[in-house]
Amino acid sequence: MGWWRAWRRRRALARQPIPDALWAEVCHRLPVLDGLSDEETDLLRERATLFLQEKALTALPGLELDDAARVHLAALAQLPLLHLEELDWYQGFHEIVLYPDDFLSPQRHRDAGGIEHEWDAEHSGEAWQQGPVILAWPGVLASGEWEGYNLVVHELAHKLDMLNGDANGLPPLHGNMRIQAWAQAMQAAYDDLNQQLDEDPDRETAIDPYAAENPAEFFAVACEYFFNAPDLLAGAYPAVYEQLKLFSGKTRWHVSNACAWPTNSRRHSTMVERHGPMRGTAGRMCL
Ligand SMILES: [Zn+2]
Repeated sequence: MGWWRAWRRRRALARQPIPDALWAEVCHRLPVLDGLSDEETDLLRERATLFLQEKALTALPGLELDDAARVHLAALAQLPLLHLEELDWYQGFHEIVLYPDDFLSPQRHRDAGGIEHEWDAEHSGEAWQQGPVILAWPGVLASGEWEGYNLVVHELAHKLDMLNGDANGLPPLHGNMRIQAWAQAMQAAYDDLNQQLDEDPDRETAIDPYAAENPAEFFAVACEYFFNAPDLLAGAYPAVYEQLKLFSGKTRWHVSNACAWPTNSRRHSTMVERHGPMRGTAGRMCL
């Protein structure tokens, strides 16, 4: 079936290519792409083209997406997959819903006493186990800098995590990876972050304290840093960085100048997640 897949790919790329000027404009908008080689940039352009043909981008009232906005989102979405073989890593969802701003999302939690609590929380993104990815557009626009924040990568990391069940911080690993090595690296870093916050909740941690919420959030936040602030992640948690390097296939990545994993957290996991542009402040989820 290789020829069939290749033929479909060529046809899709020829049908609606991203024009040169538009691609140049988007690359200019996204400093996080500065570190890519010409070859990688061309590949990202192809993957973004295919992504836009495969996924529906639904803008809610108050937000209008022009071609540059759509390509901007597609380029960010494909960045984590750039060095992976063309398997359908984003299978299981067909739509990205875009809000013009952060949105209210109903939350529910049953406490230890059996009392159910319901409230609305302000979110900038959500990823559902069997449903769309939801993003607030300001968060998308803020995702292209070398600052460790990437809402698009974060939510799509949850989707990768969900490929083998509920989000738990353990996505499907490649054949050259070992679950034990992954779990050891992630658990040690996660425990360290939690310990730091236990000692001082206001401590300025190396990575966003939202990662301490649960293992799934740790993985998603670590992915943000891996692509948007790799030096920071490598300095704080080198074993995590190495595992993500294996996971992403990012062995030749040029950095710009600029589970089976135990869920023993007090900050329990959930399949739905949230975070705002100022994570670790308002809207911290405590389940
Ligand atoms: Zn999350």
